[in-house]
Amino acid sequence: MSQQNGEQSNLSHSLFDTFLHAKQCKEVLGSFEALCRHLGLEHTGQLQFYHKLKSRLNYWSAKALWTKLDKKAGHKDYDQGTACANTKCLIIGAGPCGLRSAIELAFLGAHVVVVEKRDSFSRNNVLHLWPFSIQDLRALGAKKFYGHFCTGSLDHISIRQLQLILLKVALLLGVQVHINVQFKGLVPPAANSDGQVSGWRAILNPPSCLLNQCEFDVLISAGGGRFVPEGFKRKETRGKLAIGITTNFVNHHSRAEVEVAEISGVARIYNQKFFQNLYNKTGIDLENIVYYKDDTHYFVMTAKKQSLLKKGVILNDKSDIESLLSPENVNQEALLAYAKEAANFSTNYQLPDLQFALNHRSHPDVDMFDFTCMSRSDNAALVRDCNGAKLLIGLVGDCLVEPFWPLGTGVGRGFLAAFDAAWMVKRWASGMPPLDVLAERESIYQQLSQTSPDNTNKNISQYSIDPTTRYPNINLQAIKASQVRNLYVTGEIE
Ligand code: FAD
Repeated sequence: MSQQNGEQSNLSHSLFDTFLHAKQCKEVLGSFEALCRHLGLEHTGQLQFYHKLKSRLNYWSAKALWTKLDKKAGHKDYDQGTACANTKCLIIGAGPCGLRSAIELAFLGAHVVVVEKRDSFSRNNVLHLWPFSIQDLRALGAKKFYGHFCTGSLDHISIRQLQLILLKVALLLGVQVHINVQFKGLVPPAANSDGQVSGWRAILNPPSCLLNQCEFDVLISAGGGRFVPEGFKRKETRGKLAIGITTNFVNHHSRAEVEVAEISGVARIYNQKFFQNLYNKTGIDLENIVYYKDDTHYFVMTAKKQSLLKKGVILNDKSDIESLLSPENVNQEALLAYAKEAANFSTNYQLPDLQFALNHRSHPDVDMFDFTCMSRSDNAALVRDCNGAKLLIGLVGDCLVEPFWPLGTGVGRGFLAAFDAAWMVKRWASGMPPLDVLAERESIYQQLSQTSPDNTNKNISQYSIDPTTRYPNINLQAIKASQVRNLYVTGEIE
């Protein structure tokens, strides 16, 4: 090899290493762009990009990753990356579920664009993963990007680390990710004077974003719990009052910190004595508490209202929960003290000198929130048809079903829904009649709210986007096309 060639490949190797180990969203995107520029590769939004990248980056360190991704890409469900080759997909949100959906659609060969309104991944909170999600992430090469990924018996990861892993995989597979771009709505197609009809477009902020000109066949909404696209209705389930508190402390990874045991979930009904002692010694009254060690020391607990009032965290009792937890009614200093005391007690005061980690606003990372009400969408998908141009819209993640976090259902059900949505897009691209696609999607959606690691198929290594690999005894025709006519919307949505 000539000296010049050697220098060129050294540079591409070090650019790839920078990308692999980047720890911030912008750093990932910047280093990836630099790598593509250096290799003279255009990031096309499709799987061909991945094959070109592989052929131009001859680097031993990348080989193990290529082997894993090649194995995934070779699965029969993807038809060698041709199943959705003519389908253009827009995904709203680069949270874990939006990115996981993007990866599946990329394997299917679709043209995939993700828009994310923020420009950083800042959530320290740690998610409990179901065994299949761990297996799934390993198969995508998670360990290559994040060496600590689920080592030993660890079954959790911070939201930001999860997003970083998925973002890197998505980019390698050709997905285009645009940060600081917010989805605002849809522009229906119009017919020009020759009677030619354009396709569906999105209204994106900033208006100067070039994607405003692009047409799409599929929209996947993964904008989280508060984001619901036009046309979808949500149902709320109200439980008994539940106030959650999350907090993160700096992890210095010292020997003393390493030795403190995690609490993977202790609930009042199983350990009355612990909670009674906590109350007697500190006045803190909890229903449950979880402690996970990751980049931070992460605690999440459900607190009883009376103890929050007594400890001066909530200033005045109010009947509606929104006013009860409104910033004016919360003493922030008392909240910090409450969270820290609970963390110290539950770890037997063995975590030395707890210091709060900072959140994206550079404030101590403590949050108090209400999860009395859980909401879910009535339907998982709909089709909009305007002047004969059709757009398939699907929901995934918290946007579809808000999770009950103590059970770790967020990413578990979120990933299942991402696979289901990809299956739906595959059906759509195969030319299946729209009402049949919708009926099948709703039949699968009926299963989602009951799923747990115990009642999904045990053979998790065989999971694919095909629902029959995951849900035992599923009836894909439980709902008939005639029952979903209301999900085929022509013209404007009322
Ligand atoms: P999100 O992570 O909310 O991502 C949505 C993304 O969309 C965001 O990045 C947002 O900026 C972006 N966005 C929104 N609107 C727009 C728009 N208009 N245009 C562009 N971008 C937009 N889950 C577990 O599995 N295990 C747990 O232990 C667990 N614990 C939790 C503890 C707490 C306290 C909380 C609050 C949640 C917990 N969860 C847990 C749930 C988990 O965080 C969510 O299920 C998961 O993050 C959902 O991923 P998502 O991609 O659907 O949505």
